[in-house]
Amino acid sequence: MKLALLCRNPRLYSHKRLVEAAEKRGHTMDVIDHLKCLIDVASGEPNVVYNGKPLPHYDAVIPRIGASVTFYGTAVLRQFEVMGAYPVNESVAITRSRDKLRSLQLLSKRGIGLPRTIFAHKINKPRQIVERLGGAPVVIKLIEGTQGIGVMLSDTDRAAESIIEAFGGVGSNILVQEFIKEAGGEDVRCLVIGGKVVAAMLRKGEEGEFRSNLHRGGSAKSIKITPKERETAVMSAKAMGLNVCGVDLLRSARGPVVMEVNSSPGLEGIEKATNIDVADQIIEFIEKNAKPGKTNTRGK
Ligand code: ADP
Ligand code: GLU
Repeated sequence: MKLALLCRNPRLYSHKRLVEAAEKRGHTMDVIDHLKCLIDVASGEPNVVYNGKPLPHYDAVIPRIGASVTFYGTAVLRQFEVMGAYPVNESVAITRSRDKLRSLQLLSKRGIGLPRTIFAHKINKPRQIVERLGGAPVVIKLIEGTQGIGVMLSDTDRAAESIIEAFGGVGSNILVQEFIKEAGGEDVRCLVIGGKVVAAMLRKGEEGEFRSNLHRGGSAKSIKITPKERETAVMSAKAMGLNVCGVDLLRSARGPVVMEVNSSPGLEGIEKATNIDVADQIIEFIEKNAKPGKTNTRGK
């Protein structure tokens, strides 16, 4: 098959691994920087122009679009979809998953475990929000945050209220969440491919850090997840419409609660922690699902 990898940096571990896995399975893979693509919209003749030339037809496209360029990146992906390429994750599903609140609303609709979360316009009194959550400690998150940046823990009502007020003042959208203390700074990353959890790891934050992100200095090890965790991860991927994703869960006293669903899960942490060839499984998934001329999606 003729595949394309949409990414900004071909030297990243995840991207090198995907190219390697595709070639090993006998496919060709072009690495395309989505920001360097011109989207040529013409009736019945959609094109993507790259380095001055229209790109050829691809059987499938693997999107690895960073959060900061979601708008342009998903527009490029949608153009490939319009041209008949199979997207490993559909453009609309990526857009959906990038919005923390929208994601939580979709998950809640399906009865998936979640931390109690409040979202409010800045004209509302911060006190109301904190009281509604039963008081501090609470977690305050910037809606557009990623890699743990913009996630704050407040131990007192007063501090929580000041933080909420400060973000309201500069016009940033935030959500406020109950703090799942019993998670103990650990979370579970489930890597879902085609409705199955293929690998899972337990991530732990640095000493004294409640955020378990690897980018924040956390460490990871392989774990066996419970059937309930497996079911939660699979249902979450389905709710978001993502074929390949990382579902982050916290182990709360009332069972697994979903933190977020990541449409471009990093492969380095999970492959190294579990010794599972996730990149190979992504390519295998494409082989089974990207039937030539029969794409699932059309950029809808
Ligand atoms: P990001 O999208 O920036 O990674 P997350 O919402 O996933 O932000 O939060 C980062 C980390 O902070 C989580 O992986 C988890 O370890 C911790 N965390 C986030 N929300 C809570 C919460 N409500 N209770 C306890 N820990 C939390
Ligand atoms: N982009 C990374 C991922 O989704 C973030 C990993 C992390 O810092 O936890 O896997």
